[in-house]
Amino acid sequence: MITIKNEREFRKMAMAGACVAAVHEAVVEAADVGVTLRELDEIAADVIRSRGCRPSFLGYRSFPAHICASPNEVVVHGIPGGYRLGRGDILSIDAGAVYEGYHGDGALTFGIGGIDEESARLLEVTRRALWAGIDQVQEGARVGDIGHAVEQAAAPHGYGVVRDYVGHGIGRSMHESPQVPNYGPPGKGQRLKRGMAVCIEPMFNLGTHRTATLDDGWTVVTADGRRSAHFEHTVALTGDGPVVMTVSDLLSARPAG
Ligand code: MG
Repeated sequence: MITIKNEREFRKMAMAGACVAAVHEAVVEAADVGVTLRELDEIAADVIRSRGCRPSFLGYRSFPAHICASPNEVVVHGIPGGYRLGRGDILSIDAGAVYEGYHGDGALTFGIGGIDEESARLLEVTRRALWAGIDQVQEGARVGDIGHAVEQAAAPHGYGVVRDYVGHGIGRSMHESPQVPNYGPPGKGQRLKRGMAVCIEPMFNLGTHRTATLDDGWTVVTADGRRSAHFEHTVALTGDGPVVMTVSDLLSARPAG
């Protein structure tokens, strides 16, 4: 796990995070009925390069693209290929960028055209769960407090909380300790300290929490084929509390109310 030691390191993390937010803004703006996921990947590549960053995902264990694009029943790690977006789809975009050796990682899920009420609620609840987790990032709290808060947000809705994939520490590498699950009891796990940075990333499913991986070795889908949502921010714990590095004021700020 990284400990951000000074303003300079903090600024590099913030640059990487701002790049992730910019990727989200460009991709959401371009995503429309008839657009392919590969086209969105090309847009992401341009944004990452234009901001002096490198893509974290491209080449990570041979991952072949700059973003993960995960429509509908795809939970995470979708490879952006020839799939053409249709009206009513939901789409998760997970993006990672490195700025001068420091990583940012973030995801959001949004609808293409109008989406049904059930999907809209899934997106809203998952986004709020992320912010409930972020609120737990305080000095002296424990990693388990984050997962507990996230899981509690899903409970009233009966959503499947994905257990096979979890959040993580981040810094000089994209994935560092500790693991940050989206479930479990509060008061357990590593204590949170000033200077640490974590990725919190709830994945909620309309049905079962169980997942399966397709033959491409990457694409993770829900075991029952029902829809899934994914929201993620990189969060640094500073003397002023949690600072969300990957936030887009347009798209991924704390929801009102
Ligand atoms: Mg992540």
